[in-house]
Amino acid sequence: MASQKRKMHQYLRAAIQIYFFIFFSHTFTAAFGGVKYIASQVGAGEKIEWTAFVALLAGLCGFTIVFGRFFCGFACAFGSLGDGLHALYRWICKKCRKKPVRFPEKLCGGLSSVKYLVLAAIVAFCFFGVYASMRGSSPWDVFSMLHAGDLRLRGYIPGLVSLVLILAGMCVQERFFCRFLCPMGAVFSLLPVLPFFSLRRDRGACLAKCSGCTRKCPSDISLPEDGSCETPGDCFQCQKCIHICPRENIHCGWQEIRGNGVVFTLLRAGLLLGLYIWMGA
Ligand code: SF4
Ligand code: SF4
Repeated sequence: MASQKRKMHQYLRAAIQIYFFIFFSHTFTAAFGGVKYIASQVGAGEKIEWTAFVALLAGLCGFTIVFGRFFCGFACAFGSLGDGLHALYRWICKKCRKKPVRFPEKLCGGLSSVKYLVLAAIVAFCFFGVYASMRGSSPWDVFSMLHAGDLRLRGYIPGLVSLVLILAGMCVQERFFCRFLCPMGAVFSLLPVLPFFSLRRDRGACLAKCSGCTRKCPSDISLPEDGSCETPGDCFQCQKCIHICPRENIHCGWQEIRGNGVVFTLLRAGLLLGLYIWMGA
C-alpha cells in the first residue's frame, strides 16, 4: 500500500513536470531576466519599472518564501530536463550493465558554491553594462530558442557549447545544473523560507542506522528533525527522500496538519499554476 502511494506520487510529480515543461518552459529564463534587468537598471542609475520579468521574479520569490522551492522540483524546465536525462542515463547504464559514473562527493560539496559565483558574475556584467555584448554565451537563451523550435543559432555557439556540457553533466550527476550552476537557484537558496512546507523527519521513528534519505538526496541534505525551524536552502523539493523512506517518515506541515503526498503537491501545483495565469506568464 505504502509503495503504491509512493508510486502514485512519483507519477503525479512526473505529470506535473511534463505539464510545466511543455506550457511554462520560459519561466526560469523570464524570472532570471528580472534579476538581470534590475542589476542593469541599478548599474545605469535608471528607474526600475514593474515589468513582466520583474513581476514574475517577485511572484516566484514570494511563492518560494511561502511554499519552499517547489518551482525547482516540479516546474522548472531546466530541472525537469535534467531529471529526464539523468533517468535516461541510468536506464542505459542498467541495460548495458555498466556502473553509472558519479562525481566524488567531496567535489560536489565544493562545486555547490559555484552557482553563487555564476550569479555574482552575471549580476556584475549587467551592472557594468557589458552583459548585452555577451549575447550568445547564455546556455539558457539557447535552450529557450531550441524549445521554441528556433534554430537560428549563428552567434550563439558559446551558449550552445555550454548547453551541451551542462546536458552531459545532467546525465551523470543528478540535478547537476540546479546544485552547481543555476543562478536562479542561487537566488532561491538565499531566500528566507517559511518552515511549514519545508521537509523534516521524525528521527526517533527512523530505522536503526538508516540514512537512506541523505544518501538519495541529490543535494546531500541531512533533513532537519520534527519541530525544527531550519529550512535547508539547497532543498529543491525533488521529493526523492520521501520516495525512498521505508517508514513514510518524511513530511512537511506542522503538528497535526502534516503530510508529504498528493494533497500537498496538488495544492502547490494548483497555486503555482494560478499564479502564472494571474500574471499572464
Ligand atoms: S531529496 Fe529531499 S531533502 Fe534532498 S533536495 Fe530532494 S526534497 Fe530536498
Ligand atoms: S530514509 Fe526514512 S527511516 Fe531512513 S533515515 Fe531517512 S527518514 Fe529515517
